[in-house]
Formats: sequence, C-alpha cells, structure tokens
Amino acid sequence: MSPFRTRFAPSPTFYLHLGHAASALHVWRRAADADGEVLLRIEDIDTTRCRPEYTAAIYEDLAWLGLTWPEPVRVQSEHFSDYEAVVEALTRRGLTYRCFRTRSALAELPDPRRPGPHAPDEETELLDGGGPFARRLSLSACREELGDAWEALSFTERTPQGLVTRTADPMCEGDLVLARKDSPSAYHVAATHDDALQGVTDIIRGEDLIDAPHVQTLLQTLMGWPAPVYEHHSLVLDETGQKLSKRQQSISLASLRADGMTADQIRSRLGFS
Ligand code: GLU
Repeated sequence: MSPFRTRFAPSPTFYLHLGHAASALHVWRRAADADGEVLLRIEDIDTTRCRPEYTAAIYEDLAWLGLTWPEPVRVQSEHFSDYEAVVEALTRRGLTYRCFRTRSALAELPDPRRPGPHAPDEETELLDGGGPFARRLSLSACREELGDAWEALSFTERTPQGLVTRTADPMCEGDLVLARKDSPSAYHVAATHDDALQGVTDIIRGEDLIDAPHVQTLLQTLMGWPAPVYEHHSLVLDETGQKLSKRQQSISLASLRADGMTADQIRSRLGFS
C-alpha cells in the first residue's frame, strides 16, 4: 500500500480565517493518525485575485498554528506551462473546443444534463470581437473516447461508515472550462495535475468541494493519473449558519492573532486541543 500523503491547498485570495484553520487542523490530524504526511500547495492560478501578501500570510498563519510541511512548496503560478501541456494533450486528442461565450452567457445556457444543443461548439460561437473566451472539455467527445469506461467512472470516498464507491457524474458541471482568456489554467486541471504529480493518495477538504471528484475523476481517467481517495469535512459556520468565506471578509487568523488570541485558544475553540 502506498504511504498516506495528503495536501492542504489554499488559494491566496485573502487572509485565512477560522474555517481554513479548522480545515488545516483536520488535514494535519488525519495525516498524523495515518502516519502520513501533508504537503502544502499554493493554488494561486487566479492571477486577478491572488496576491503575494496573502501567500506570505498563509505560511505565517499555518506555522503559527504549529503545522509543518516539507519544502519546497509547490506554487501553482510557477507551473502554468505544466497545466497548458495538459490542455494541449486533451486538445490533440480532439477532446476540447474553443468557446466564445462569456461566463455570463454560459450561465444562461440550459442545464448541461438535459439533452439539447447545450454544448456550444465552434458553430455556435458568439463572437464578441475578441478571441475565444475559454477552452472547454467536450463531454460528448470524452464519452465517445472512453466508451464503456465512461459508464464505469467512479471514485472512492472515505465516510464515517468506511470507504464507499460513488458513481461519477462528470456531466454535473457541464463542459468543463479548462483554461480562460484571463487564466491559462482552471482549478480542476491544475489541482488534478498536481495531485498526480505529487503522489497525493488522499484528498481531504471541505464539503463545499463535495462535487469536485465527479469531474476530477474524469480528468484523472483521461490522463491516466491515479485515483486518490476523497474525504470531506464539515465547514465552520458563522452565528447565522452561513459558511465563513474569505470574500465576506470573515475575521482573519492574522487579526485574531493581533488581538492576542493564542494558537492554543484557536485549536480549542475549533475542537482540536
Ligand atoms: N484551492 C482550493 C480552495 O482554496 C482548494 C482546492 C482543493 O483542496 O482541491 O478552496
């Protein structure tokens, strides 16, 4: 059996908050219980929102919580050519198409799971005067290429009841955006590429990403990458029952620290003492 290796992969779009601390503490505890290791990965592919000061704060906050990780840390923005190579490989196999619809135009398309002319292809380009807006994965082409393997797509999830095999529904997000005009790689491409490259055996993350294995399994199958085991933990909610979110400017770990809170107090508040 391969050794247990997981990762914590925050996106530096703002300062980490209590929800990230809970997730990180959960991931590190799971790895310790399994006698495994945790890699830290900086998922800064969204060049419009990520900032170096947030990356620096991630290192500082996690170290303050007493967490350690092997060096060097993989910083995704330093590896765009790796992700472009994945998109090119899929394109050479005829599995992608250029999409000229903008994000908002795409949102108005019918549910991708319903039959109909939902998959925009080059004949249905909506020209906006610029180049293609995105490169997308053609699920119909993938289905054709995989044949019977398409129907058999599945992934393993670790639940409190044990390991469960789930049927993957790669149609759940429609034709996946692989790269956009303003970003050479989309999250699913970079994350699955790096999980394979880094030998990640177990992916442990919040249940806000509970649907991600459906499409990530498809990418892993297409690229011949190993299938990790998935595990989802519950999210920290605020007093109104909403999940904490960076964008809502939830109280950052940095500001709690500046207010004199100790790492031990954070741990015990989150149930990790
Ligand atoms: N970078 C993602 C985030 O900050 C996490 C992705 C993952 O764990 O696969 O939400």
